[in-house]
Amino acid sequence: MSSCVSELVVHDEAIRENTARFAELTGGRVMAVLKADAFGHGSIAASVLAAGACAIGVTSIAEALALRASGIDAPILSWLNSPDADFALAVTAKIDLAVSGAYLLHAVALAARAVGSVARVHLHVDLGISRDGCPASEWAQLCALAHGYEVAGVVRVVGVMGHMSCADVPEHPQNARERLIFRNAVRTARRRALAPRLLHLAGTAATLTGVGAGFDMHRIGAGLFGIDPSHSTSFLRPALTLTAPVVSARDAAAGTGVGYGHDFVADHATHLALLPIGYGDGLPREASGQAEVLARGRRRPIVGRFSMDMLVVDTGDDRLEPGESVTLFGPGDAGEPTVAEWATWSHTIEHEIVTHVGSRVARVHRTIERAHCAEGVPS
Ligand SMILES: *Cc1c(COP(=O)(O)O)cnc(C)c1O
Repeated sequence: MSSCVSELVVHDEAIRENTARFAELTGGRVMAVLKADAFGHGSIAASVLAAGACAIGVTSIAEALALRASGIDAPILSWLNSPDADFALAVTAKIDLAVSGAYLLHAVALAARAVGSVARVHLHVDLGISRDGCPASEWAQLCALAHGYEVAGVVRVVGVMGHMSCADVPEHPQNARERLIFRNAVRTARRRALAPRLLHLAGTAATLTGVGAGFDMHRIGAGLFGIDPSHSTSFLRPALTLTAPVVSARDAAAGTGVGYGHDFVADHATHLALLPIGYGDGLPREASGQAEVLARGRRRPIVGRFSMDMLVVDTGDDRLEPGESVTLFGPGDAGEPTVAEWATWSHTIEHEIVTHVGSRVARVHRTIERAHCAEGVPS
């Protein structure tokens, strides 16, 4: 396969299969988390909804509005906004809003009143991650305030959410503590006359390890894209392949230094191939000296320090042809490096590799149906 540009191929059928697996696992309670451009995978909202997701979750209102504008009419939840965000636009577009503090609830209620509508709200309680939920000490007050706005007819509390901090380690004692805090928070909300129907605290790890089981919805992000943060399963399929074309190739004599600082010096005669992709396209510079590619069916080391726009590959006895395609990462089926290997090489997690691929790389969606893929996927 050859192409004149670097390409990020998105395997839509892998994402659909993963979604269907989570729909099965959760009894059809999947909210597909498509923040950060669907973890770098682009426009896949219609695919995940067709494959069994029943709602979509994103971080900002801007992300939610973009999905609505693209024709998605499923429920969409946006969970992180500053008080000056455009809540009026969100309410008008029927975007559910997570609210984690009184100041936010005031802003949401004001906006709903201004547009003559009712804001659908998920109250977000901090279970112990000390990040974006409402501190437990302010929870009862937030519930009381929400009830006041419900009576005034501008807010309806449809859900209560939390987010677990240690779900990738199922035996961590924090998991039981956080489930208890969540149940108590729901009880407090009910005591304040709220009637949330959608209770949710599990992401991918909590769903796969089971520590987030028993509630109404599962917010699945990483897992849709073949990433298991708990490393406890092997049935998810990675959904990206990154390729780059060879732009030039050359002979290199023993003693040839490559790249800034000559971190690599060839100790024997070899061949080098130049790829037009670098850390400016999201490939972590920290992987310099470790990373490999698949070229002509074999693993070859990337040599020398990564540059912003280019990488040099040591192709040994083979001199590649300009225009030949080289695979930087993929599902691993043909022996190419995986995103998980790139994460190891650069001391990070797979999420960071997939969300960093830059805008110079063309996204190509490929839908190759596999024989058993259609089973269990509602149309
Ligand atoms: C990102 C995110 C998720 C999804 O988490 P995954 O581990 O990727 O499934 C769920 N909930 C919240 C609040 C998030 O920020």
